[in-house]
Amino acid sequence: MKVTNAEIVISAVSQKQYPSDRLPEIALAGRSNVGKSSFINNLIQRKNLARTSSKPGKTQTLNFYKINDMFYFVDVPGYGYAKVSKKEREKWGRMMEEYFAVRDTLKACVMITDIRHEPTSDDVMMYDFLKHYELPIIVIATKLDKVSKGKRSKHIKQAYQVLNIESGDVLIPFSAETGEGKDDAWQAIRQFI
Ligand code: GDP
Repeated sequence: MKVTNAEIVISAVSQKQYPSDRLPEIALAGRSNVGKSSFINNLIQRKNLARTSSKPGKTQTLNFYKINDMFYFVDVPGYGYAKVSKKEREKWGRMMEEYFAVRDTLKACVMITDIRHEPTSDDVMMYDFLKHYELPIIVIATKLDKVSKGKRSKHIKQAYQVLNIESGDVLIPFSAETGEGKDDAWQAIRQFI
């Protein structure tokens, strides 16, 4: 998809701040520092619209990016950052539930994982959390450039197994460095907008 317009509309902390124009929404979830901002920036061809994080775990807002006046990417706060207090973790949980439980314009979730490593227990929890809301999930296994060609299929297979990816959901190997997987990612996203 050619992105001609991408703008941040709101960083929301509660439901009443969500946009009201009812455009379809694609959520983006991932562990802190996994490469989520780099994924968004690569897809929408902006260097730095989604801030690449210097402080993992600190952005406790839902960031609504309007793309081509057609749909929203909703960047949800990263998870799995060890240094977050219990209070902040609870706040995160409430914010996620408030959004995922009620939002009927939410069509699918992109979940970013790191293809170099086996998905973590936090990744598995997130996948299960999203499935609880019966959302289609597109897993983007990023940092593909860091895995040699010979080892890629093994890592992909392992991610399918550990996350227990349901039939109908897909995993797309991706690199923000080389742009590999970008067209496949757009193709998967387009089905839902
Ligand atoms: P976020 O916290 O999930 O938004 O992660 P960022 O997008 O800020 O990325 C975290 C770090 O990983 C940064 O240093 C990025 O440059 C790096 N990174 C992100 N995507 C890739 C990728 O596809 N390949 C490589 N080699 N590095 C990446």
